[in-house]
Amino acid sequence: YAAKVTGGRHVRYTPELDARSSEQASLGAALRCALDEGQFFLVYQPIVALPSTRVAGVEALVRWRHPVHGLVSPADFVPVAEHNGLIVELGAWILREACTRMESWRRADDASAPAKMSVNVSARQLSEPDFAQVVATVLRETGLPASYLALEVTETAVFDSTVALDTLRAVKALGVRIALDDFGTGHSSLGLLRTAPVDILKVDKSFIDDLAVPGAQAAIVTALIDVSNHLGLTAIAEGVETPEQAERLVAMGYRFAQGYLFGRPTPDPDFAAPLALATAEPHP
Ligand code: C2E
Ligand code: MG
Ligand code: MG
Ligand code: MG
Repeated sequence: YAAKVTGGRHVRYTPELDARSSEQASLGAALRCALDEGQFFLVYQPIVALPSTRVAGVEALVRWRHPVHGLVSPADFVPVAEHNGLIVELGAWILREACTRMESWRRADDASAPAKMSVNVSARQLSEPDFAQVVATVLRETGLPASYLALEVTETAVFDSTVALDTLRAVKALGVRIALDDFGTGHSSLGLLRTAPVDILKVDKSFIDDLAVPGAQAAIVTALIDVSNHLGLTAIAEGVETPEQAERLVAMGYRFAQGYLFGRPTPDPDFAAPLALATAEPHP
């Protein structure tokens, strides 16, 4: 069993270890089946401009409606799909679905519709040599102009491989924007912001949480908008839940934010009512 071997060293057998790896294997098989059976769907969360709170973009987030267990969080299945490689195929489906949706909003010519679709991309997808080709094909086939698409990647994904950097450059050459997601939670390097092909910096929710309290978190959030401005990056504050946080962000100079305060992820967002303060994510 590969799972019992760590760096060439055998780990002592434990029934728990076996249970965990077989659980992972059966979840992996269920994910394969879920993709074939059409059990995945996307929800969309608004990204708003400040201080107007007008919808500027949306982030697509994947959901799995399991026939028995109901809604499963991506935090539970995306890591498994990354591990067994299914994320490559699932990710391509997500990209196509999101671009198709964005193109239909664009064609509807609704003044309140978002101007950008953000799609999360995992490290495993970036390590595929043909990833930029997949993006180009999806854009061509859905008809969505590249300028309407942004891809969200994590610092770790960018740091861990030189392939990822080359892939990002190729994607950027298509005219697609690149966002660094959850910034501040990985091995953050300000140097990376300067050298990596990045356009958008998403400041992680953990920094926004304590924003109302003066202290280190607020100092970091202030520093990040300054760095973003100097490097010509667009900063987006993630996980904004209270009006106090939004006010602090506006005072600091933030022009974009995302969070439950402005809208929960939903399958059919109503862009004309961004401040709906929904209390629950609908289960379609
Ligand atoms: P993320 O990309 O950082 O997405 C933001 C997460 O924070 C989402 O959780 C969103 O629902 C949640 N969120 C947004 N605003 C608030 C808020 O005000 N308060 C709180 N408490 N949470 C908020 P979700 O949808 O469960 O996704 C979790 C993570 O799973 C994502 O983090 C992303 O890393 C991954 N993920 C989701 N969809 C996809 C996908 O399509 N592809 C890939 N590769 N990963 C995905
Ligand atoms: Mg994201
Ligand atoms: Mg994020
Ligand atoms: Mg986050």
